[in-house]
Amino acid sequence: MNKSRLKNLMGVLSKKNIDGLIISKPENQYYISGFSGEGLTIVTDYQNYIITDSRYTEQAKNEALDFEIIETTIGTSPFLIGFQIIKQFNLENIGFENNFITVKKYDELKENFKKINLVKTDRIIEGLRVKKDSKEIDYIKSAQEITDKAFTHILEFIKPGVNELELAAELEFFMKKNGSVATAFETIFVSGSRTSFPHGVPSKRTLQLGDLVTIDFGARFSSYCSDMTRTVVIGKPSDKQLSIYNTVLQAQTKAIEYIKPGRNCKDVDGVARKLIQEHGFGKYFGHGLGHGVGLEIHEEPRLSPKSKDVLLPGMVVTVEPGIYIENFGGVRIEDMIVVTENGYKNLTNSEKQLICV
Ligand code: ZN
Ligand code: ZN
Repeated sequence: MNKSRLKNLMGVLSKKNIDGLIISKPENQYYISGFSGEGLTIVTDYQNYIITDSRYTEQAKNEALDFEIIETTIGTSPFLIGFQIIKQFNLENIGFENNFITVKKYDELKENFKKINLVKTDRIIEGLRVKKDSKEIDYIKSAQEITDKAFTHILEFIKPGVNELELAAELEFFMKKNGSVATAFETIFVSGSRTSFPHGVPSKRTLQLGDLVTIDFGARFSSYCSDMTRTVVIGKPSDKQLSIYNTVLQAQTKAIEYIKPGRNCKDVDGVARKLIQEHGFGKYFGHGLGHGVGLEIHEEPRLSPKSKDVLLPGMVVTVEPGIYIENFGGVRIEDMIVVTENGYKNLTNSEKQLICV
């Protein structure tokens, strides 16, 4: 466990006059306590707790050394145990994650926390997670190294006659064999006109000569995600395919070069968006330019036209412009970038000029 994280969290809570926090989002529990199972984490100025059940008790003891582990019995709400903890210290204002908890869980929480002031806290820990330390960046780098290797590997398999599902399976198998504990998200492996689905799932469609093929995928290393996209073509690209590809590549290159601390995330998005508009493809780029990556595949900050986020050293963001034309196909290129003290470093090392397989 990283003690400075807990200290930072307590600092934020005290500024908001909150005496304790009930953490239920798994990534936030992991970030603060190191516990990777299911349960509740409760932090207070006096003592910190993990409330879990027998499936995870031993694991919690091994992972969260500075936390007191409490095992629930079948049928007891973990919120009731949480309430008893809070009551013994006479705490008044207790925060909970209103951005994560379901309405059902909220009702259960309210029922157990009688006469205690429950305070909605909106993404306090997410706010701390946004800047990565060097260890976290190393984990993300390792996840990306597996991803780059897997891309080189899968190029050998992309050919007419093979279907998208088979290719996605080969890609994921390779990543696991190379140290990825799980995929960072559902692999997107689409071909032909299906490349116009920005988030299409792999199907039984068989690849054909002349197809664009888009692969958006990521590995998970020490709980941290990677995320990259490449689009390749089978055989020789048509003029239209080439013009779309080069527009996306140019937009991505320009946006990446614009990255440095202090830049507004919406302006980074604007650099790519403007270029795509100037090439006449504006209406075919419907999503934001990128997002933060860490314990979650999509986290703060957001690179989009409405974002209020500002880039800071230690942030890891994707830059992934795309052009998607219905019944024709699409292109997306995505790299992961870490914001440094003076600029940026690209963590993705795979080729970006159009690969013809
Ligand atoms: Zn992606
Ligand atoms: Zn992404």
